[in-house]
Order: sequence, then structure tokens, then C-alpha cells
Amino acid sequence: MAEMLQGFAGTSDDQEFYLLSPPGYKIGATKYVVVLGSVISGVGKGIFSASLGKVLQDKGLAVSPLKFDGYLNVDAGTLNPYRHGEVFVLDDGTECDMDLGNYERFLQKNLSRENYLTSGKIFTMVLDKERRGGYLGKDVQFVPHVTGEIIGFLRELAVKQRADVVLVEVGGTVGDVENSYFIEAMRELAYAEGEGNVCFVNVTYIMEPPSTGEQKSKAAQLGVKRLQGQGIQPHVVVCRCPTPLEQKVREKVSVHSNVPLARVIGLEDKRSIYEVPAHLRKSGIDQEILRILHLTGKDDSVPAKQWEGFVSRVLQPKHEIVVGITGKYTKVKDSYASILHALEHAGASLDAHVSVKWIETTEIEQGASPDDVLAGVHGIIVPGGFGKRGTEGKIACVRHARERRVPYLGLCFGFQMAVAEFARNVCGLQGANSTELGETPHPVIDLLPEQHGLAKVGGSMRLGGREVKLRAGSLVQKLYGSSTVRERFRHRYEVNPAYIDALTQKGLLFSGEAEGIMKLLELPGHPFFVGTQAHPEFRSRPLEPHPLFVGFVAACQKTDKSGRAAGRDEVRAVQAGD
Ligand code: GLN
Repeated sequence: MAEMLQGFAGTSDDQEFYLLSPPGYKIGATKYVVVLGSVISGVGKGIFSASLGKVLQDKGLAVSPLKFDGYLNVDAGTLNPYRHGEVFVLDDGTECDMDLGNYERFLQKNLSRENYLTSGKIFTMVLDKERRGGYLGKDVQFVPHVTGEIIGFLRELAVKQRADVVLVEVGGTVGDVENSYFIEAMRELAYAEGEGNVCFVNVTYIMEPPSTGEQKSKAAQLGVKRLQGQGIQPHVVVCRCPTPLEQKVREKVSVHSNVPLARVIGLEDKRSIYEVPAHLRKSGIDQEILRILHLTGKDDSVPAKQWEGFVSRVLQPKHEIVVGITGKYTKVKDSYASILHALEHAGASLDAHVSVKWIETTEIEQGASPDDVLAGVHGIIVPGGFGKRGTEGKIACVRHARERRVPYLGLCFGFQMAVAEFARNVCGLQGANSTELGETPHPVIDLLPEQHGLAKVGGSMRLGGREVKLRAGSLVQKLYGSSTVRERFRHRYEVNPAYIDALTQKGLLFSGEAEGIMKLLELPGHPFFVGTQAHPEFRSRPLEPHPLFVGFVAACQKTDKSGRAAGRDEVRAVQAGD
């Protein structure tokens, strides 16, 4: 049946089918796991999917994730991190949902634009194709054309990334208007691929209202019914809950959803998200999913053990350090998700737990002393940012770090603020600043050449991976342990070349550059003062912590509570493991 359908590629006017099949696509060669959420959003679908991907990958399967976002934004670059969480940047420059960060971290591989789809992207594809005459003679409809393009997109991904399993995470919750046509596309996908090739997983939520004192599954049952009403019978139900799932609740979900008991599992809140892969293995759901998809997996004990080693270092740290992070979005932890993960990875590699003190820099601007606001932190990070609010406070934090010899890591905007601070307070260039923040007599940070006269906002920054050349003998070159590195970027402004001499004469070392643009800086003689125009946080992985974060956390470990930092040699000794 499935093979027959594939023949109907929608070439004739009277075909009801519009199923795109890229060259080389073979039904059954790639299996699909489709993860759909119900009851509430933010239930942990992304972490579940990434963990499942990791477990399948450990069994020797090539897993390609795809996140679908219902927004009409073509990519996530124009979303507000305060509302939506961090904008994650892939090596190919795609600005996407932060869930892709979880996939990269769990699967330990780079993803690309093929792994991310929004409504905006699909509609742009469909409308462009319509204008090019791609549907000539047809009335272009949601079904089968939009849904057909989605299936085509998934199949392209399967072929291009030679996936054994494509893992589709449908953003939002079943019942949302914006993802309904996408869910319909998934129903059609299962029809077209045939029995045993698509596995639907419903991640739902079990409530525990304090007034009842017990777990309640009614909302979860209704969620499954809603899915069934859309033509999808889940094969697996994952019940997220604050505490371990009670057996009788599990049975209730099973009976009401038509899903065998072995395929209904609980997933209670964990201390660390990295515990979820082991939980899935223990529940046996990995084997159930292999069975549903007629797949076999090889022994996964070696990679599983490696991962568990990391998890136990996360859960049983020997040291505690406190890092102050400044930021405009300090109320929403999600806006800095990758930085928090990078600190966690680096911390685990040094047996340290990193806790964060969020620094509201506007307090400093309103008169609070940086000494008070930053008391007790072992290191300071000024992360990426846009716009003026709180920037004078950020510059005051950089000054504090430089003068008090507190370890400093400036990320993108934090790199630019370090340049402005040095220009003002060391080079005597009063009022030096970035032109992003308004008029300045000393525009030490200015627009990148290609940004002048650019009218378009979306997707127009310098984006994605670039090779950075590192200066021989610099601290960063030692930390990276190589002379070139590939880092990811997302910026519009750069160090103004006209000021490079003035800055370097006073002792600022630009220790990395790409395409003639300064990408890394450091202060020789300071225990750890490093800034980068890049976003190294996007490249940190649990088992491969990022060298700059490792260097920073190691330096923080050598800072005492008063903020006094150790000398640079001592820091190197910590990094060398002495
Ligand atoms: N706003 C700065 C720029 O566009 C920094 C960007 C960032 O921190 N990602 O260059």
C-alpha cells in the first residue's frame, strides 16, 4: 500500500495525493518517532525527545531530530528571548528554538536548517512555489499541499542526513490552532509510510492538586482523546508528573488511551535533565519503541556508562562556586539556557557545582555599589545582549572584574562592553561606547561593514560558524589547545578597527580574529579576563565542556569569597589538574 501511494506524486490534476518523495527516498528505510504534547505546554517534551534520541543513538541508530514550531516567524531570530527563551544558533547560521540546543547537547552533534521548521518557513516555501508555478492548475490547499510539503521536508531530512530514525517534536500542545495542520501532516505521514514505520508518543501531564493529595489523570485522558479525534492513536504515553507515577494512575491512562500498560510510563521531575536517558532505559520504553518500529539496537552499555559518569559528577559535586551573570533578561532563566548548561558541563569536569547569582545591572545604575552587588561571586559573566538598558551597570561590572582581579568572561555583548570599559578607564577615552547604544565621541564598537544601509532585520546579522585564528602564546590558545577554532556568531557590531592600536598599546590583547575582525580578547596579567565576540556556550556538550568555560570555572575555583582571585599561574595549575 505504502509503495503504491509513493507512486502518486501529485503529477496529475485529478490525483488526491500530493506526496513528495525526494530522489533516493525509500519507504521503510527511515522510521519516524513523532512526539506530541498535551494538557500543558512546557511539560518537557524537548528534554524527553532529546533523551530518547540519545538512547536510540547509543544503540547504534542514526537519529535526526526535527523541531516544529507553529509560529509564523520564519526563524527564531526575531523572537523575544524574554518571552520565548534563548535564540539558539546553529553552525550554518540558522537561528532556532532553544530545544535544538538540547538536541545538540544530548546527541553531541551539529544540526542544521534541515532540523528546524516553523509555520513561517513552510508557508514561505509554499507561497514561493506557487508563484514559481509549482502547483500550476491546482487550487493550493492546506491538505494535501501544505501537509505534503511538510512530509517532503521530513523525507528530505531523512535522505540528506541518512537517518535511521527521524525524531519529530511538534511544538505546542494538541488542540492549538497553529499546529493543527502539522498534526494532520503527521497523520498523513503515518498513512503514507505504512504500519511499523511511524511511532506516535504523547507526552502528557498528570496533575497533583494539593486539595486532593493524589495524582489525577483526567486531563491526560482527555488529551489522548483529542489526539484520537485528530486521527492519531498514540503508541506510547509518557506521563510527566512532579512525583513518581502511581500504578493505578498508570493503569487508568492505559485503559482510557488504548495503549498497553508497558507502553505507558511515568517521568517524574528529576534533579538533572541528564538523568532522563537512564530513566527511559530503566522503564523499558526504548525497547518498546524499537519493537513498534521493527528495529533492533546494539548493546549500548559503553556510551550509557560514559554518560552516567557525567551525570554522577553533576549530582555529587565536591566544590561550589558562585558566578554572577548580568543581564536584561535575568527574570527568565531560559534566555540564558546555553550559558547555564555550559557552566554545568565545565563545572562537572572540575567536580564543581556552579550556582548563579543574577545581577540586575540597573540597580548599579541607580546607585548601588558594584562591590556590594557583586559580593560573594567568584566570577562574572556579561552575556549577549541587545539595546541600551542596563549597559552602564554592565560596564561597571566589567570594571569591577578587571580592577578587583575577579575572573571575567564576556560573551558577545560582554566582549564589546569589555572593550568600551577598557577604552574609557584605561585608555582615557571618555564616553567610549558602542554605536548600538547611541551617540558617542569614541565609537570603539561600530556596525560591521555589511550592516550599513541594511533594511532587513530578520536573519541579517553575522550568523553561524566561522574559523577563528588564535594568537600564539595567548591564554585562549592554551585553553583551546589549537591555533584555530570554529565558533558561532550572532552579531551586528564589531571592534572598530580605528581603535585597535590605542587599545592594544595600553595592554589589551586581541587574541583571536576572523575575517579581519577581532573575535577574542584577554588581559595578560589578570587571573582570567577573557571576552569573545562569539557564543561559545552553543558549542558546549556534556562530555565535551567548552575550553573557555572550563578555564573560567577553574579560575573561579581559585577565587575566594571576597572576590580575590588567584594568580594566573595558579589557575593554569588547576586547569592542568595539579
Ligand atoms: N548587540 C550586539 C551586536 O549586535 C551583541 C549581540 C549579541 O550579544 N549577540 O553586535
